[in-house]
Order: sequence, then structure tokens, then C-alpha cells
Amino acid sequence: MINFNKPYFTGQESVYMHEAMALGKISGGGVFTKKCHQFFQEKYGFKKVMLTTSCTSALEMAAILLIIKEGDEVIVPSYTFVSTVNAFVLRGAKIVFVDSSMNSPNMDADKIEALITTKTKVIVPVHYAGIACDMDKIMELANVHNIFVVEDAAHSIDAYYKNKPLGSIGHLAAFSFHETKNITSGEGGLLVINDPQFIERAQIIGDMGTNRFAFYKGEINKYEWVDVGSSFFPSDMIAAFLYAQLQNIDDIQNKRKQIWEHYYDGLKDLQEAGKLTLPKMFSYASNNGHMFYILCRNLTERGRLMEYLKMNGISSVFHYSSLHKSPYFRDRHTGMDLPMSDIYSNTLLRLPFYYDLKEEEIKHVVDKVYSFFSEN
Ligand SMILES: *Cc1c(COP(=O)(O)O)cnc(C)c1O
Repeated sequence: MINFNKPYFTGQESVYMHEAMALGKISGGGVFTKKCHQFFQEKYGFKKVMLTTSCTSALEMAAILLIIKEGDEVIVPSYTFVSTVNAFVLRGAKIVFVDSSMNSPNMDADKIEALITTKTKVIVPVHYAGIACDMDKIMELANVHNIFVVEDAAHSIDAYYKNKPLGSIGHLAAFSFHETKNITSGEGGLLVINDPQFIERAQIIGDMGTNRFAFYKGEINKYEWVDVGSSFFPSDMIAAFLYAQLQNIDDIQNKRKQIWEHYYDGLKDLQEAGKLTLPKMFSYASNNGHMFYILCRNLTERGRLMEYLKMNGISSVFHYSSLHKSPYFRDRHTGMDLPMSDIYSNTLLRLPFYYDLKEEEIKHVVDKVYSFFSEN
């Protein structure tokens, strides 16, 4: 069986975890947390970063930092993971979904302006598959209308928009180190703070709403409850694990980009034959080898292809059902029509993708996709 995903371990993770244990301080903010922070700030030029327990936590921190309250409007794609939206719903926001583009599952930047009202507080671009949204257009709208931008960069480590790292463009950004992402600590995330006005408060929000950080630095003689907050920062054990992965990021990325190219080269004739559609690339966006997806012609065909691959020992998965049609949302709101989001929900299929996937295995997957379409 060729699995859909398999986490990659560099071998150094357990070494660093033992080191953290030997240092005798494994709660948040320890030596390895600092090493990870420094890595991100140096490699990607992020103004300020904070490791979090997940991308979901980082998004929740962003919603608290932006003081989202009842009635504020947040523009998000419907074709995304539930956390992109939940973080803001938890603060009482009204969700305004924008459709995906014709050319990619990313939000259609040309459809945003019509959705902006005096209550719009945030736009949340999700860089799907690590391919950048059209950030110049989005930032321009945000600046003109005085709106914040939070990048959901869960897929987007080591990905670029016009040579700027994703996560460095919006006021805030959130990354994920979940097992299914390029760089992983099992569960884990990162909040990026590009707008310095949020730095001090982010530390407090992540420290349960206390000024404990200032206390540890010796700036005050006791710490107190000063704001809302929660426990958003991970143990140094997680940071130790993550640090091993970060040290191998170039190797991991090269390998993943090669896998992506093998799939693309292997399948492009099927696209020319009109059997399926492959991901489109844009001159402004790099490709970080996060995933390989194909678009089938319709829902039934996708179901049959998945079944066929499964019979041949290949596990493929689809994901993201339009959130505007989810049970939670449709019980509360009506009348939204987002046809492109529905098309991606019905036709997108992700092929096996992980560091250790061998060339013969990719070839096997490609061959089976071919044999399916030669009969269909
Ligand atoms: C994976 C993912 C998340 C959530 O990440 P966690 O680290 O699991 O919380 C959020 N948004 C998108 C687009 C994702 O793919």
C-alpha cells in the first residue's frame, strides 16, 4: 500500500529532545524555542515570531490580537480548513466567504472589493498548496480600506510571492507543523508578527493573559493577570523536535519539489488529452512542494478514480468541503453561491506525497492514473 502521507524524521529529533531534557527546562520559551525563533527570523526575515501549539492556536491568537468582536466582518475563502474561520467565529465575527479563483483554489482577489463594508476588519488569504495568493491586490485593498490581513500560511513554509517569503506580507501570519505539512513536530504552529504594534500583547495573550515574560526578564517583581489569553505556547520538547527538522529544511524542500516535478511531468499528457487538470503556476508565486493535486472532471469520476487507486494499493484523499455548505454554517446562514469553491470541493484529489516516496512509487501512481483514464 502506498500511503497518502508519512511523516519524515531526520534522525536528530530525539537527540535534541534528550538535550532539552538534560537542560532541565522543558516548558515553553526554553533554549530550543529560542533557536527556532531565531531560525525563522533570520531565514525569512519575519519581524517577530512565536511558536504555538498549532496553526489553529496561532490563528486564534491573531483574532484576539486584532480585537475581533461581535459583528466585525472577516473575509475568508470557503474552500479552506475549518480553523481559518473558527478562530474568528470564536470571537463573534460575521464570516463573509469569498469564492475561489478560476485558476486556483486560492481566494479570487477580484471578488474581494465587492464584499468590503464599513464593518470589514480582516481579510484572511489562504495560500493553498503553498502557492501564493495575489498579495499585491489584497494588500492594496487592505490599505485603502484600513483592513488587517492575516495570512493562513499553513501550507506555505519556504514559499514566496515575488521573492517575498509567504508569512512576511500580511500584518500577521500563521504556519502549521502538523504531521501532514512539509516541516513537522506532530502538532505545532507559528505566529508571525510583521506589524510591531502587536508584539508585546502577543506575548501576554500566549502567556495566559499574564505579564510573566516581563517578570522572567526581571522587568517587574511579580506577574499578574493583565489581559485575556490562553496557553498557546508549546513545550520546549516540541521545539527541540522542530529544530531538527528546520536544520534540514533545504534538503526536505528539494526532495519535495522533485517529487512534485515527477508527478507533473508524468501526468501532463493526460491534461493535454483533456482528462484532468493539473495545478497552475503563476509568475508571482514559487512552488514549495507542499502537495500534488489533480482536478477530475466531476464528483463521480473523482470517486471512481479514488476507488480504482485504492484497489491498486494507492491511498489518495480529497479535502475541504465548501465551508458555506457545512452543517454548522448552513444552519445559520443562507443564500451564498460560490461555484468555484464547490468545484474544488467536488473534483480535487490529492496524490500520495511525502519525503520518502520513491521514484518507482510515483511511477506506479502515475501509471495507475493513466490506466484509469485510458478506460474512461
Ligand atoms: C493544517 C491547516 C490548518 C491547521 O493547522 P493545525 O496546525 O493542525 O492547527 C489551518 N489552515 C490550513 C489551511 C491548514 O491546511
